[in-house]
Formats: sequence, C-alpha cells, structure tokens
Amino acid sequence: SGPLRVAVLGAGEVGKSALTVRYLTKRFIGEYRSDTDMLYKCVLQVDGTPQPVEIMDTSASCDESSDAHLQWAEAFVVVYSVTDKESYRWAASTIEELTNRRSSACVLMLGNKSDLGHLREVEEVEARSLALTHAARFSEVSTAESCTPVAEVLDNFLKEVKSQ
Ligand code: GDP
Ligand code: MG
Repeated sequence: SGPLRVAVLGAGEVGKSALTVRYLTKRFIGEYRSDTDMLYKCVLQVDGTPQPVEIMDTSASCDESSDAHLQWAEAFVVVYSVTDKESYRWAASTIEELTNRRSSACVLMLGNKSDLGHLREVEEVEARSLALTHAARFSEVSTAESCTPVAEVLDNFLKEVKSQ
C-alpha cells in the first residue's frame, strides 16, 4: 500500500497553509505563500508505526485543479474560518460534493480561528451537525494558538484513514 494522500481544501485565507505547516513543523507561520499548491511528502507516526503521508495544501486560486484533487486524495480536510460565513458555505458545498463523488473518502471538517471569538460568524453546533449529516469528523481549532489540539485532531484523523 502506498502513501496516505490527504488534500487540504477550503476557501482563501481560512488558514489551510498555517494549519498544514503547524501540523508538520509544530510552528505557527503567520504569512504563507498562497498562490500555489504545495505537496508535502513525509513519514509520520500513525497509530504507532511509520506511515508515508502526502499532504496537499491546496490554493483556492487554482479552481481548475480542484477536480484533480478530488481524484488524487483518499482523505480530505475541509477547512473554513469561524469568522467567515462565506468560507463555511464553501466548505459545506465541498463536503456535499465529496459525499456525492467520493462517498468512501474520509472527511474531516475543521472550523479554524476559534481564538477570534469576538468575530465569530459560524456557530459550532450548526457546523457540527452539518458534518454529522455527511458522516464527516468535525472539530473547531485555532492554528494560531498552540493550546488547541490541532496535532491531536489530525493524528486521530490519519489513524482513522489508515484503518479504512
Ligand atoms: P490559506 O489561504 O487558507 O492557506 O490561509 P493562510 O494559512 O495563508 O492564513 C490566512 C491568514 O489567517 C494568515 O494571516 C494567518 O496568519 C491567519 N490565521 C491562520 N490560522 C489562524 C488562526 O487559527 N487564528 C488566527 N487568529 N489567525 C489565523
Ligand atoms: Mg494557503
């Protein structure tokens, strides 16, 4: 069996790159190049054993490539920002599309920027129930704050993907 292939999808500026880089390096990098897809190849401990993983940090500006991402990956992290209702709608329609076209894929929906509570536009309970409807995992996270368990959430997700 080859590497686990994970695509990180979401509208622009929701924190896809910050999240990917934090997970892989344990660091928060505030500004990140956003005009291109980035493919990270690594070997991670998944469920206690080394596992080759490929993570595609997608760039929303490449609309034409999203079809290819849907085919390429077996697991999807769909990110929105809790401060941006439009990004939530984007995530919701992406999850719907995944349900229709890749019904066997593992999907994790993440509401990022939970540290910005005063700017919140999306209620956690609404997003969680949408994810549940589509059999997707769900979590709110803050990539900017090291106290929220981004790594744990993604570790658990990869464990599930691997076991499928
Ligand atoms: P992308 O376009 O989805 O890849 O988004 P980026 O990773 O480039 O992040 C967009 C902006 O949101 C940057 O200014 C980040 O510093 C900021 N950002 C990312 N995650 C968080 C977070 O959890 N909290 C806050 N406050 N800002 C964040
Ligand atoms: Mg980016």
